[in-house]
Amino acid sequence: MSDFASRIERARMSLDDRALDALCLSVGSDLPYLTGYRAMPLERLTMLVLPAQGQGVLVVPALEAPRIDTSDGLYEVRPWAETEDPVAIVSDLLGPSTHVAVGDETWARFVLALQASDDRRAWVSAEPLMRELRTIKSASEVAALRAAARTVDGVVDQMAEVQFSGRTERDVAREFADRTLADGHEEVLFAIVASGENGASPHHEPTDRIIRHGDAVVVDFGGHQADYSSDTTRMFVVGESPYGFDDAYEVLRTAQAAATAHVRPGVTAASVDAVARDIITEAGYGDLFVHRVGHGIGMDTHEHPYLVEGNDQELSTGMTFSIEPGIYVPEEWGMRLEDIVTVTDTGVEPLNRSDRGIRYVS
Ligand code: ZN
Ligand code: ZN
Ligand code: ZN
Repeated sequence: MSDFASRIERARMSLDDRALDALCLSVGSDLPYLTGYRAMPLERLTMLVLPAQGQGVLVVPALEAPRIDTSDGLYEVRPWAETEDPVAIVSDLLGPSTHVAVGDETWARFVLALQASDDRRAWVSAEPLMRELRTIKSASEVAALRAAARTVDGVVDQMAEVQFSGRTERDVAREFADRTLADGHEEVLFAIVASGENGASPHHEPTDRIIRHGDAVVVDFGGHQADYSSDTTRMFVVGESPYGFDDAYEVLRTAQAAATAHVRPGVTAASVDAVARDIITEAGYGDLFVHRVGHGIGMDTHEHPYLVEGNDQELSTGMTFSIEPGIYVPEEWGMRLEDIVTVTDTGVEPLNRSDRGIRYVS
């Protein structure tokens, strides 16, 4: 059975377990996870209608239909012409279904129209069901994440040989993105280059600030390769580190390594955050670590599980997530160190392997 066939089968079983009659998926990663087809985020509706029993039907704008590969016969395709009403088509396909799960990224205008189309139907979020399917990665998904990680690791190594000083953040960010695309990514979704005081803003957008001697530069970038995400952060320093930076970086590295070593099946998501946070707090930087330690990653850059205080979900083999503690001193500098890891039967495998030390550049 192909990956897609077994995923569709598991989705059907999960519908059944939850006493749901059908699943409706539109834009976002749930649809390509089940079918390999990613819908254009357009005003024209694309929707897979998958009943708990029987054949699924993918309702698509006629002009998108040629992009769909139907060779494996996992679902039918129902192209709709410009003058047809796709909401009516979906509603007809749902027939007698009364309990329907809808993908949580579906546009509100379509959800509202579907709800209005037949008031006997109850609509619930498909998020819990899809989360259950997508959180545990198969060996081929982990391999795809590993390959994406290798690409960005290589770019970090290349950029350690490049001059930063005298260039804008925007210019350096563009070079990270260009090299990432050249080395195998289909798209780069973000390239944070945050120099000097800008580093204190975790999700800083690159600006025209000119990078200079003595700047610490947070570089956090990633994108998609074969539909799976990369996301890594490494620290670059131009010439010499700013005051207090190196001591804090030792703490950060120790915290990141300890949190990584803690990962194995059965520990909670929250405990990974706590391991890193305790070390950073003990060293006196606790107030400066202002975000959770990590997020799941797969087809989406941010997905379940979230490694955050209060999430008592236990980790299992095949989960994949980031471990990315940070320390941010307002108006001075910031630092973060980020790897993607996967939970194995006996512990953890980091997918990012590039050197975790500070990269000194000119
Ligand atoms: Zn982030
Ligand atoms: Zn990141
Ligand atoms: Zn991240």
